[in-house]
Amino acid sequence: MNIYSETMNHLLYVGIDDTDSSEGMCTTYIGSVIMDELKDYGFQTEGYPRLIRLNPFARFKTRGNGAVSFKLNLKSKTEYGKAKKFILDRVEELSELEHENTNPGVVFYQGKITPELEAFSLKTIRNIVSIDETQKLAEEIGAEIYKFKIGRGIIGALAAIGCPLKDKTYELLAYRTPENYGKKRKIDRESVEKMDGKTYPQTFDNVDGDYITIEPHTPCPILYGIRGESPDAVLKAHEMIKSYEPVERSAVFVTNQHTDLHLLKAENISQMERFKCYIVRGIVKEPPHIIMGGHVIFSLDDGSGSVECAAYEPTKEFRNIIKELRRGDDLRVYGGIGEKGTLNLEKIEILDLEKVYQTKNPLCKCGKRMKSAGKGKGYKCIKCGRKLRKGTKNFFELKRNIKKGFYEVPPSARRHLSKPLVRD
Ligand code: ATP
Repeated sequence: MNIYSETMNHLLYVGIDDTDSSEGMCTTYIGSVIMDELKDYGFQTEGYPRLIRLNPFARFKTRGNGAVSFKLNLKSKTEYGKAKKFILDRVEELSELEHENTNPGVVFYQGKITPELEAFSLKTIRNIVSIDETQKLAEEIGAEIYKFKIGRGIIGALAAIGCPLKDKTYELLAYRTPENYGKKRKIDRESVEKMDGKTYPQTFDNVDGDYITIEPHTPCPILYGIRGESPDAVLKAHEMIKSYEPVERSAVFVTNQHTDLHLLKAENISQMERFKCYIVRGIVKEPPHIIMGGHVIFSLDDGSGSVECAAYEPTKEFRNIIKELRRGDDLRVYGGIGEKGTLNLEKIEILDLEKVYQTKNPLCKCGKRMKSAGKGKGYKCIKCGRKLRKGTKNFFELKRNIKKGFYEVPPSARRHLSKPLVRD
């Protein structure tokens, strides 16, 4: 099928996904190479390419579940044929097709972004979607799909074209030269700290203590990624970064990263399902406890049911806040429910803190605090020997070490879609 239409506008949306494996490559890189090469051949691109993050719980994701799309302004039907052939050839050449779990999909679309297409994209970000339903929608709206192997990538490819971006951020991705793939990245740390100092909060999540957050820790082609509020901000920051290895190319993507687009407002706890991300309010039922691996767990209840919430070890100092929660605290939590039904916390809002009391034995007339005389036997003073048959314990309100308000995980543990508080 060739969807080029003389009557429609000649804007062609191209979506690409599922080209990489955990051993290498990256769909953003393939997208950048293809866009650069198309420009070299005289094709006109329109706007910024998109990097759209999808459901973090999608089963077959490699890493951050990102898909890419871009727009071409075509001058003729011949250009459409050439562009399509070129894109498909390059996706085939550059993808890690030998890996079982790499199933690239490419989508070409010339129509309008319809409400159905937007709804499909949101579903792909917030739910699990099948290849069949993607194919059905593509047919309905007249999008052309191209599948390599089982072509699971058409899901993300179509979603990346249709994703509404009311709120958006930008990411500048700088790519390594192939001879450096898999080697330790050589980014000048001081330059990153300086850049952060000069550009934050227009750029964010650059550093986290000693940790350079812009640097990935996988064998992918990315040297670093700078996230920010505008193309200008990320480009300016990019110019400030020194690295002791060459940058092969760079590209600015417009993205749904850090917009909270993945979060659904749950009506109540019992309605929540696995593999979805939510905002939900409840009362701390079981206070926090630490489990093996340093993860901190507590349970939240709203009368309809309860959910176990976790601040996992990588969330570092965020766990210190969670450890301070007590039974009865009123919270709004933000996070995703994984395989085991535990809600993985991204941030919390403490709406109200329960009063916490310490009980002490009564004071003796002599001023000494009395001791228990045994179960049901009242109290006795070990200093003056006085006995008290029926005494009541004294209650003392304890100072809470946390305050009402928002708390979030540190940048190094932040999910791609999770909105940092600095963006509110
Ligand atoms: P990277 O971030 O390095 O590009 P990735 O983590 O994006 O890799 P992919 O290799 O793209 O992972 O694999 C994710 C696969 O899951 C793709 O085929 C994509 O179409 C599919 N997918 C994405 N979201 C969903 C979803 N909500 N339901 C079902 N499948 C999905």
